[in-house]
Amino acid sequence: MTDLAMTDNQTAAMQNAAQALAETRRLSGKVLIDGQLRKAQAEENFEVIHPGDLSVIGQAPKCGKADVDTAVEVAHKAFVKWKTVAARDRGRMLQKAADAIEANAAMVERVLALDTGNALRTQARPETGSSIDLTRMFGGLAGELKGETIPSAHPDVLQYSTRDPVGVVAGIIPWNAPLFLFVAKVAPAIAAGNTVVVKTAEQAPFCVLFLAEIMNRELPPGVLNVISGYGEDCGKPLVEHPAVRKVTFTGSLAVGQAIASYAAPKLCPVTLELGGKNPSIVLQDADLDLAIPGIIDGMRYTRQGQACTAGTRVFVQESIYDQVVAGVTAKLADIKLGNPMDEATDMGAIISAEQFQRTLHYMEIAHNTPDARVLFGGQRPSDPELGKGYFYPPTLLDGLPLTSELCQDEIFGPVATVLPFTSFDEMIVNANDTPYGLAANLWTRDLSRAMEYVDRIEAGFVQVNQCVAPRSNVSYGGLKMSGLGKEYALDSMLNHFTCSKTVLINRGTPNPGL
Ligand code: ADP
Repeated sequence: MTDLAMTDNQTAAMQNAAQALAETRRLSGKVLIDGQLRKAQAEENFEVIHPGDLSVIGQAPKCGKADVDTAVEVAHKAFVKWKTVAARDRGRMLQKAADAIEANAAMVERVLALDTGNALRTQARPETGSSIDLTRMFGGLAGELKGETIPSAHPDVLQYSTRDPVGVVAGIIPWNAPLFLFVAKVAPAIAAGNTVVVKTAEQAPFCVLFLAEIMNRELPPGVLNVISGYGEDCGKPLVEHPAVRKVTFTGSLAVGQAIASYAAPKLCPVTLELGGKNPSIVLQDADLDLAIPGIIDGMRYTRQGQACTAGTRVFVQESIYDQVVAGVTAKLADIKLGNPMDEATDMGAIISAEQFQRTLHYMEIAHNTPDARVLFGGQRPSDPELGKGYFYPPTLLDGLPLTSELCQDEIFGPVATVLPFTSFDEMIVNANDTPYGLAANLWTRDLSRAMEYVDRIEAGFVQVNQCVAPRSNVSYGGLKMSGLGKEYALDSMLNHFTCSKTVLINRGTPNPGL
């Protein structure tokens, strides 16, 4: 790239940031309730920063019970009408909402990058695209909300089941892929005839509010409501509200368990997408032209490793270990860390001080572990521009025992460990040796080994010879402590956002079929 082009990119980055900042300032202090962006009842706000330079980009309301109650009451009122709108019409409105997001995509992705620190080109733009795709898909699937007829023992008795919305749905979302996770919850819920109240993550509230504002223009007031706040103050009363009949959550295991416990007394169903400590496995016969870039894609380094599906434990068969490590480290050197708003940047900034400290904490453990080797990264960048934000390079380590916290805990930062193995059986046991069961990736040319791995691996999202991110129309969810239920496909709408009645109608025959 020439110096002149760099200057153009940097100028464009500044303009992008300024435009997005104008939007976050406009959204500052607001919630979306009853079709309107309005001031929250909560008096207090909290600051939201851009992780790339720690500048304050706005204030989000610290909503508590009062705002929760208002949002849920509004959603409950809207539900009475929304459930009577024909499913096809609900779907059409959602598809229009997808069109509206598409028409505003350039600004949506900028606000997303400013809010999260995720790089515009590699993350914010694709996430905006997949959010449009998912919204459109659920809009199209609204016609699939069908019940079943049940064979009857008597011709005078009609037996069937209905497929009905459940009521007000509460969504609680994290900051790492806020738009995609938002639409993964609201699009199927709304298509199915429910109304929703979503609590955004405190680290990245504005991109979701901005998206909701755009979608809301195509929906009746009160169908889609968005509030902000902290977990205990806002998330808890939202889950516990008696009118909330379904909860859908993405986030950490500990909070998922808390949310399930809040919902339990009212027997309210809960969908949970939680963490992962996912294996990426390379067998000695693998095509390394697929495996080496696949491991890097799998680590989600361009999202700073902040992905539940990140393949953070790389198991490589001993005979090809050095070759794989050399190939991966050579490619990691190509990842350009920098200003998230700059088109030239591959990898942006870690979301928050807390997450940044978390990465530093695990790296300190690594640096203090005898035999641990830093194969790539492992130090904060020396560029003073990057010192202004939460930047940390892609990092690859080896020499850590499987029992190390680095091999056991979900770090949610750009840190992966590589481990050699000789025995396939032993490797599978080790790969499964975590409480999580979210994703797993294997590279091999041996179909029989691939099938054995699919059979024995304890994960809900299993890939062979690739490691792509979850996407629309591909059912996604974890086993073990990684969650409850699947998302992103038709079954998620039917299984998680509807209930059914079994109906038996008799034309007037006494004791039919008895
Ligand atoms: P992460 O570690 O990715 O930040 P968390 O699980 O802490 O994930 O947070 C995910 C979402 O859950 C956020 O919107 C957060 O505010 C919310 N949350 C955190 N604690 C609670 C709680 N006790 N009750 C309800 N929601 C919570």
